[in-house]
Order: sequence, then C-alpha cells, then structure tokens
Amino acid sequence: MIDIKSMDMDELALFLKEMDQPAFRTKQVFRWLHRGVRSFDEMTDLSKHLREQLKERCLLAPPTVERKQVSALDGTIKYLWRLHDGNCIETVLMRYKHGNTVCISSQVGCRMGCAFCASTLAGKVRNLTSAEMLDQVLFTQIDSGAAISNIVLMGIGEPLDNFDTVMRFLKLVNHPEGMNIGMRHISLSTCGLVDRIDELADRQLQLTLSVSLHAPDDETRSKIMPVNRSVGVERLFQSCRRYFEKTGRRISYEYAMIDGVNDSDWQADLLARHLKGTPGHVNLIPLNEVKESPLRPSRRVAAFQKRLESHGVTVTVRRKLGGDIDASCGQLRRKQMLEQGVR
Ligand code: SAH
Repeated sequence: MIDIKSMDMDELALFLKEMDQPAFRTKQVFRWLHRGVRSFDEMTDLSKHLREQLKERCLLAPPTVERKQVSALDGTIKYLWRLHDGNCIETVLMRYKHGNTVCISSQVGCRMGCAFCASTLAGKVRNLTSAEMLDQVLFTQIDSGAAISNIVLMGIGEPLDNFDTVMRFLKLVNHPEGMNIGMRHISLSTCGLVDRIDELADRQLQLTLSVSLHAPDDETRSKIMPVNRSVGVERLFQSCRRYFEKTGRRISYEYAMIDGVNDSDWQADLLARHLKGTPGHVNLIPLNEVKESPLRPSRRVAAFQKRLESHGVTVTVRRKLGGDIDASCGQLRRKQMLEQGVR
C-alpha cells in the first residue's frame, strides 16, 4: 500500500497526475489529509471513482486511542496510540502559558540503551513513518480540542536515528497548506549522534536542538549512555559548536539529575568549561524513576544549579508536568507491555 500521507506536495502532485487527475486535486487531497480525515470517504469533493481508487491503492490508517490519561494536577494528557500494525506509541500534550505543546515519538522503542530510560528497555521495534509522526500531532489536537502550537520530538525513540523520515515530517508539519507549525516552534532532542547533528546543521533549519548530555565526563557518560562509547564528550561538543556556528541557534542541554552519578560540583565545573564560548542553556531534569533501573533522583539539584550559575551558565530546572499519569518517556507503553506479558 502507498503511504500517501507521508508524501510531500510535489510527490502527491506527481502521484495524482499519474492517475490522470487535474492539477488542482493535489492541494485538495493534501488539505484533507492534513485536516485529519479518517478515511477517503470523508474527502467529499472528490469523485466517488477517485475515492475508490485511492482506497484500493493507499494506506490511510490513523491511530486509535489505546489508553488516555489526563492529569488532575495540570491537564497534561498522555496518549497511548495503537498503530495500524498493532504497535503502540506515546504522545504527551502539555499546556504551557506560551501554548499547547505536543511531545511526539519517532520510533517504536529505541536502540540507544540509555540506562535511565524506559523507552529503550525492550529495544527498537521499527521506525515510525512521517505520517505516523504527523498523526500524533493531528489526532492529539482533534481528540483533545487543544490547538497545538509547539512540537517537541522528545517522546519514544531517537529522532536522528530515523533522520530522513523526521526531516520529511518537519517539512509536512511546517507546510502552509498543512498544520503550518513554524520551525521555531519545534524542538528536536537527541542523545548525540554526531554525524547526524552535523548533517542537521547543514540544513540550517530554525528549530531548537536539545542535546541529552546527562554527564560532562566520558567515564560517567559512557556508563549511562552507550552512544558515548564510540565518540566521547569532546567530539559531541565539537558538533554542538559547529551547529551553533551554522545555524545561529542556541543549543539546549538536557541533564537528568541522578543521585551520586552526575550531580557533583566537579561535574558542574566541567560542564561549565565545555560550554564556554558557545551560547547554550542547561535544562536540569529531576530524574523520573524507572522501576527496572537502580538509578535514583539526585538531592542536589539546587546546589548543582547554583554551581553552574556561579560560572555564568544559564540554567533552568524542568517543571514536572503530569506527575500523576506516568507522563515521562516510554513509561505508559512499558506498563502496557508488561501487562501483556512482554519483557
Ligand atoms: N532520544 C532522544 C529523545 C527522547 S528522550 C534523546 O535522547 O534526547 C527525551 C529526554 O528525556 C532525553 O533528554 C532523555 O535523556 C530524557 N529521559 C529519558 N528517561 C528519563 C528519566 N527516567 N528521567 C528523566 N529524563 C529522562
């Protein structure tokens, strides 16, 4: 089946032309797809014949809500979507003053193996398609009734490990005839695939890059993030500096505070040294406990923040949303898998 929803406008034009359709059909079909129709029958201004042809040849299989948890504390909603092949992924809707933000997944599972992360425990099953990423934004908006203005690629999966598909998704969700979400309203988070960061830099997109750093020294970082074993922190910062030079965009460094692992003053000092000369911003994240992991939340978040600030580093501490609904990466999918006997 043809994945029509992952097509960009040019590909769709060519596809419809081959079906002997007039040029104006392209925009019509594109708009319907990006408005979140659940079947070709809803495309009421197309001929019955064309709808039948599309049904026969193309995949249009929006996700269904498998589970939905609404936080009583702050209105955060966590969706567990069931995809057409039975796999499940998570999307989180967060309500901030500056707008509604949706956190989407880029893969079913993850193969990066970070020690603190629930998404990677059972490995990677497959990449998502661009349409499946777009659907998370579209159907979260439709189901919740909340107009989405911001997107973060911080859900399950490593977006730069699904590079071409993610680039295609960005183009789709950014399209004026589609959801029209500006690049400056999109953040992409990576565990640090340096070659891919370099490739992204060359595209000069105006999105915000978040780098999941979590430790400033190779010994600690390699212990908790296997991706570090082959490249190292020095090389990662090289790519980050290059990214800033190419795009002019400040990088945001994610740092989950883990008790006795990455929360010492000397690590704050080293982190500050790495950041010298490149505008960046550190986001300290209180660790979310994952049952299967021995890692515990740090009790030194404020002290670590102070120490970084004493070196002139800009630091924020992430506010916890949806604390009552398993609203951190991979935890809801994990729960579902355990209940179904997958380990
Ligand atoms: N693979 C990408 C994006 C997904 S994870 C990445 O690594 O950036 C989104 C963020 O949540 C990352 O910074 C990740 O390191 C962090 N994270 C994962 N598990 C966590 C946990 N248990 N507590 C706090 N942050 C966590």
